[in-house]
Amino acid sequence: MRPDSDQPINIVGAGLAGALLGVTLMRHGCGAIRLWDRRADPRRTRMERGRSINLALAARGIRALEHAGVMERVRPLLIPMRGRMIHDRSGATSLLPYGQRDDEVIYSVGRGDLNRVLIEEAARHQDVTIRFNQTCLAADPIQKVLRFRNEISGAQYSVELTPTIGTDGAGSAVRGSLLNLNYLSVREDWLDHDYKELTIAPVAGRPALDPNALHIWPRGGFMLIALPNTDLSFTATLFLARRGPRSFEALSDTQAVLEFFLEEFPDAVPLIPNLAAQFQAHPAGQLGTVHAAPWCVGGQVLLLGDSAHAIVPFHGQGMNAAFEDCVVLDELLDQADDWQSLFAEFERVRRPNTEAIAQMALENYTEMRDTVLDPGFVRRKALSLELERRFPDRFIPRYSMVMFHPEISYAQALRRGALQSQILLDLDRTDGRTDFTLAANLINERLPALVRA
Ligand SMILES: Cc1cc2nc3c(=O)[nH]c(=O)nc-3n(C[C@H](O)[C@H](O)[C@H](O)COP(=O)(O)OP(=O)(O)OC[C@H]3O[C@@H](n4cnc5c(N)ncnc54)[C@H](O)[C@@H]3O)c2cc1C
Repeated sequence: MRPDSDQPINIVGAGLAGALLGVTLMRHGCGAIRLWDRRADPRRTRMERGRSINLALAARGIRALEHAGVMERVRPLLIPMRGRMIHDRSGATSLLPYGQRDDEVIYSVGRGDLNRVLIEEAARHQDVTIRFNQTCLAADPIQKVLRFRNEISGAQYSVELTPTIGTDGAGSAVRGSLLNLNYLSVREDWLDHDYKELTIAPVAGRPALDPNALHIWPRGGFMLIALPNTDLSFTATLFLARRGPRSFEALSDTQAVLEFFLEEFPDAVPLIPNLAAQFQAHPAGQLGTVHAAPWCVGGQVLLLGDSAHAIVPFHGQGMNAAFEDCVVLDELLDQADDWQSLFAEFERVRRPNTEAIAQMALENYTEMRDTVLDPGFVRRKALSLELERRFPDRFIPRYSMVMFHPEISYAQALRRGALQSQILLDLDRTDGRTDFTLAANLINERLPALVRA
């Protein structure tokens, strides 16, 4: 399909997915593209606070950045993390590697820097216009208009609803307006746990923690994590219940905050300057999964990225999945006859995969905050890496399939992961003496051949 150049494509939301989609479609030769965002231009202003400051980028996201030809610009922003550094209450640490090959690492990247680079890349093309400070109020397929408010002048106005892709994030206004017009149904499953970000400052010009790891203080029921930044600081995030004895609600004053941190994360306390003040000043964010159906209205509107399928952040895959969306849409463009068939096919291909990663992301919360403390889990994790060494064409740990193997779909990773986890339970022995003949038989009997896209 060759999009009609008289019909500009609207991308509502120039965040991570929207900006990358702009670059991707432009490289495809899609004619005029109009990007809209309610924020001020991030090339001129600092990023808004209160959003996750850094993110884990993995193979699916990298593949999408390469597909769009922007990976070389992004690379200098990346800090490799080779595993989870577990901090126990005594302050002792141990590294659980993510994979077993040198390239099986994930990368910490600053949200603001990444978004700025993607916007710069999109803006290089003369057929792309980016309009900041424009809040989308609604997409209306009946009146065939997109409604906006100019945040500088306060004026409201409408533009024609040419093919429009809503990439305006988890709280999408595009999705909300389609819901109001009964074009789709939405279920938002909010966690009863919130998150709050705190900064770990460098010490004497050096990172306060090993910068090549994702640090976790798992405490069963809640956890603190920290990812490195290029300015040598770390962004720590506390994930904790909203209410209850151990909760954000219970941390209502300075003393309660300090006591809680000293008891639970004593080695982190000296690293977080003005801990109590930071804690009071920084907002708590909500976490949830968005289930919307359908994602499209004819050939008029499509939801993509978080607006279609926001997930909890515990697998570090929301942005990666949103980036993968861009590749899938781009690959389908050539086969589609028109926008309607393109949008419908995108949803058909993509939905099973985004549902799978939504489920795995929820499961990973339990793994990060609780299961990593279980000796059985640590044993089976090591065994799964050994099985991958011995049977690399058949057995790949689920975490690795999700993070390091973009050629294996999320849905396949979920299916195989369930089979593999039963195999691991059947082989698990507390003395660690695995019967590898039995392992070979179980793997051959139970695991179908891998399908790589
Ligand atoms: C605490 C936390 C940690 C995370 N960690 C990771 C991680 O490690 N790895 C990972 O892959 N993912 C992670 N994620 C998920 C990731 O942030 C999202 O999946 C990703 O940002 C989705 O990109 P998006 O472009 O769809 O939405 P967003 O990045 O939210 O972008 C939406 C854009 O739309 C604009 N917008 C919103 N409303 C309007 C409107 N009405 N009109 C115009 N513009 C609008 C916004 O200004 C923004 O620019 C994390 C999320 C959270 C909350």
